[in-house]
Amino acid sequence: MGFLMNRKVKYLLISLLVIALLVGLFYADMLGLNDKTDVNPKLVEASKGLNQYEISVNFDPANKILQCEQKVEYINNSGHDLTHLYFHLYPNAFRYEEKPVFDKAEMKRAYPNGFSSGGLDMKQVLIEGKESDFLIGGYSENLLMLLMDGSLAPGETVSLEMKYTVQMPNCLGRFGYGDNTFKVVNWYPIASVYDDSGWNLDRYYSIGDPFYSDAANYRITIKAPDDYIIASTGDIKKEIEMDGQITWEIDALAVRDFAWLASDAFITASKDLGNTTITSYYYTEETGEKALDYAAVSLEFFNKSFGEYPYNHFSVVESDFYIGGMEYPNLIMMDHSLYSSYHIDSLEFVTVHEPAHQWWYGLVGINQITDAWIDEGLTEYSTVLYYGHRYGQEKENEIYNSMIAEGKYNYLQVYAGPEQVDETIHRPSYEFSDWIMYDLLVYGKGAMMFHDLRRKMGGDLFFHALREYYNEYQFQNVSKKDMISAFNRSTGQNWEEHFNKWLYDE
Ligand SMILES: [Zn+2]
Repeated sequence: MGFLMNRKVKYLLISLLVIALLVGLFYADMLGLNDKTDVNPKLVEASKGLNQYEISVNFDPANKILQCEQKVEYINNSGHDLTHLYFHLYPNAFRYEEKPVFDKAEMKRAYPNGFSSGGLDMKQVLIEGKESDFLIGGYSENLLMLLMDGSLAPGETVSLEMKYTVQMPNCLGRFGYGDNTFKVVNWYPIASVYDDSGWNLDRYYSIGDPFYSDAANYRITIKAPDDYIIASTGDIKKEIEMDGQITWEIDALAVRDFAWLASDAFITASKDLGNTTITSYYYTEETGEKALDYAAVSLEFFNKSFGEYPYNHFSVVESDFYIGGMEYPNLIMMDHSLYSSYHIDSLEFVTVHEPAHQWWYGLVGINQITDAWIDEGLTEYSTVLYYGHRYGQEKENEIYNSMIAEGKYNYLQVYAGPEQVDETIHRPSYEFSDWIMYDLLVYGKGAMMFHDLRRKMGGDLFFHALREYYNEYQFQNVSKKDMISAFNRSTGQNWEEHFNKWLYDE
């Protein structure tokens, strides 16, 4: 319907409308409604008392550079006076060819065009608005240390501002760019975790996912050329187009990390599941919608089995990531090679494994360097359970045998040789001899441990215990004792011996 109006009346009406809108927006903002009306109340509750990151990024794909300004409201949740703070500078792990994050044998696959250096250059740090000295150190300059003026008492907050530039390497590992995608993951200074063992300052080891972080809140603004599509953690609040650029404003509450990928080749397909929109970002048309289907069915199954996924978005993103699949909050990064019809079975397995990590690591966090079995073992077993749910018991048994018991555990004996194999699952990732041993024990034998647990306690009790574990510890970081205590509490039995037998090769 359209109608014409006298010019003066039209301007008066428009002015009144604008005033009404501004007043409305002002009140909505005062009440915090703009941010939270569509956010799960559980996340609003969980977001209280967490560190707050605000990062503004100028993304320059031609030069493979990110210009960043970051504010952090850091809250001392350690329970101790802190005289200094640490942040990981993960991009610097990609700086030196002689200190790579890949095994020697993997270098060609990681850098098909030859080694390419990346890193983060810190230009300026302000503490409480005052320009401050900062120290950069660690194995590959991967740690930032900030000295407090005096000390930060438990519960106190300090405001930090940082200006830095990130150079993206031409690298097909997690961080970097390939032919079709920029993988902006583990890319900004993120606070190290202070736990019972003190500061966790581990470097970017080549084996396992070398990450450990606390849940935090994020507001990220990315300015990118308008031919790029951004897939990210969190909810996109605005896309403002101007002068050939789009400014993306993205909010995320109570997430463990913030990751984004950019591509000028992405096609998207979406599906709603309750309050969550699942989106597949892909450039291989043949299978992009298949990835959406696997993610949607697995998310629905895990929702019912473990407890609600509380976020509004979940994205499956095809990328140049030769390793396979990698989990980030609200987003999984999947290698392009999985999208060929020939590898469709692997595409399904990985597109179920990575969503399971949203529960096991994303929500119930752990130290992935010291306790990887807690998330990888359970995630691998959750993947097996999906096959039972979707295709029946026979398929579940087949997948369990081919992917876990025979596929991995029997192969372990062959791979490790005839000597006595040290089958200890629970040890730091850097103590495994290589990725294969890590995979066979942490994923393979780890999944067998959960399978045996389910067999002993029965399916109903097993799922009941997992729900208890999830409910009790979401948004937190846990250790072995927390997992065992959840199983003990919900079954009235003591499972410590079961875990120790499997974990320590007893
Ligand atoms: Zn995994």
